[in-house]
Amino acid sequence: MPLAPSFALPVLTAPTLAAAGASTITHSDATTWLRHALGGPTWLHLPGEDASRCRVITTLLHGNEPSGVLALHRWLGEAPRPRVSLAILVANVAAALAPPIFTHRIAPGGRDLNRCFRPPFGDASGELARRIAMDIAAWAPECVIDLHNTSGSGPAFAVALARDPAIERLASHFCDRLIVSDFRLGSLMELPLTAPTLADCPIFTLECGGARDPAALEVAADVYRRLGDWPDLAALTPAPGLEVLIHPLRVELRPGASLAYARGPEPGADITLWARIDTCNRGITDPTTCLGWLGEGGLRYLQAVDARGSDRLGELLCARNGRLYPRRPLRLFMATTNAEIARSDCLFYAVPE
Ligand SMILES: [Zn+2]
Repeated sequence: MPLAPSFALPVLTAPTLAAAGASTITHSDATTWLRHALGGPTWLHLPGEDASRCRVITTLLHGNEPSGVLALHRWLGEAPRPRVSLAILVANVAAALAPPIFTHRIAPGGRDLNRCFRPPFGDASGELARRIAMDIAAWAPECVIDLHNTSGSGPAFAVALARDPAIERLASHFCDRLIVSDFRLGSLMELPLTAPTLADCPIFTLECGGARDPAALEVAADVYRRLGDWPDLAALTPAPGLEVLIHPLRVELRPGASLAYARGPEPGADITLWARIDTCNRGITDPTTCLGWLGEGGLRYLQAVDARGSDRLGELLCARNGRLYPRRPLRLFMATTNAEIARSDCLFYAVPE
């Protein structure tokens, strides 16, 4: 495709890797590549046999979620020749490279980049989000998939803003679960709400699995391969078995509450969550599963405010003998065991079964 006259971020067209073959590429090669060949937010443009169409994949919005960029580096080592052009953004290189590498969600001194796709754009994180948004619109893509990792271990799942057959068709090839969220947080997948040219573009987040799950790397690798290969997205047959969960609730810690992760009640903590709560990211969590232990304030330190502002914690969770249990069978996801993420984002998402 003819490149749009200008992009806000650097574009490397037909990037090549010096490494000999995919099998010889290691994690440290990927780190070196990120540091020296990219060095900052960069678009990689792979012209397709059909260069009239383009599909966008974004990755590394969070610096501690490396599966997308590691899979990308490995895939580029295979010298891929996509049928349809791909534009791939490696976004938050500064966060990823802040030592120790791949441990920082946010760039030093910045904000969570995947909360910056709405005004104000005044600081460095907002400005980067604004440039990313302009560039995505300039690619005029057929679809956008934003690759992430969950902070805890778990299977891949997709997140979208609304039910859309085009998203469901695409997502069904990469995961078994699609979450339709009515929370508006300023994430990249909200771009169709503000960018008129993207209004009809299927955009979704793909949580590939935990950052250290080997399966997450394969999910991300599949995205590059298939988006490069599929000749016609509109003719794509959905893979069977996609479960669609509507409007999950975010279970959050109330401001000022203290949180611990342990295998028993932590003295002095308002909330102690089970140290392996991330194992609940698979399947259904039934009301006999102890999720943690409550301090003297009981459930008072937790909330589950829905998109309309009502606290619905009582529909999800209950206290019995100082322990925290599901009130009813729940599907949990994004349950983290990282206290910093739990405090700044949420403890987990839940949908009543
Ligand atoms: Zn993320």
